[in-house]
Amino acid sequence: MPMRILLVEDEMDLARSIQAVLEGQGHVVDHCVSGQDGWVLLGSDQAHYDLGILDWMLPELSGLDLCRRTRSRGLALPLLLLTARNETADRVEGLDAGADDYLSKPFAMEELLARVRALQRRQPSYRAPLLEAGCFRLDLAAGQLLVATAAAEVCIELTTKEQQLMSYFLEHPGEVISGSRLRNQLWNLQQDPISNVVAAQVRLLRRKLASHGLASPLETIPSKGYRLNPHAAVLL
Ligand code: CA
Repeated sequence: MPMRILLVEDEMDLARSIQAVLEGQGHVVDHCVSGQDGWVLLGSDQAHYDLGILDWMLPELSGLDLCRRTRSRGLALPLLLLTARNETADRVEGLDAGADDYLSKPFAMEELLARVRALQRRQPSYRAPLLEAGCFRLDLAAGQLLVATAAAEVCIELTTKEQQLMSYFLEHPGEVISGSRLRNQLWNLQQDPISNVVAAQVRLLRRKLASHGLASPLETIPSKGYRLNPHAAVLL
């Protein structure tokens, strides 16, 4: 299940590696360097993060301070602390500050991914990697969208970005979702500066559905956004 992850890490090489590995798993990752910038992103309503990965030693605010602030704000997202420290007292301090887990540097990326998966499983909102609404079934493990029309079931291979977009629509069937909400949830806030990135991706997804003979279930609601009609699976 793709997650939106905030990574706060001031070692640029390590940050780039972590970001690449997580994005390779289909997650959307925002990265910032200072604890203060991390707090601005975590504490804002701009994006809702499913996971925070915080280095302990950061400029301005430490990862520990970030954990405390996040919890005192009442945010429940899982937090993974990265630390070069490995003393028992430090671990206790990290967990007491509100971290859910910690990882001592240096670590293997496989271990980071395993911790991330474990934290994701612990979440009450964890969903099985199969999303269903109306005639649509998205198998995230296989990367396939299955569409049941009156005539036949159509199986469509989706790219990672198409899966993220379709997941969001299937989690909010029939709801009008604004372009800016999609952009905030599914795109990296620092990268992808193209203003019409959402419209372009929606167009690509519609085109793919059409290439499999399906009329688009994605409606454009003028000046409001987009809506998935989960019952509109019709062959062209
Ligand atoms: Ca550091």
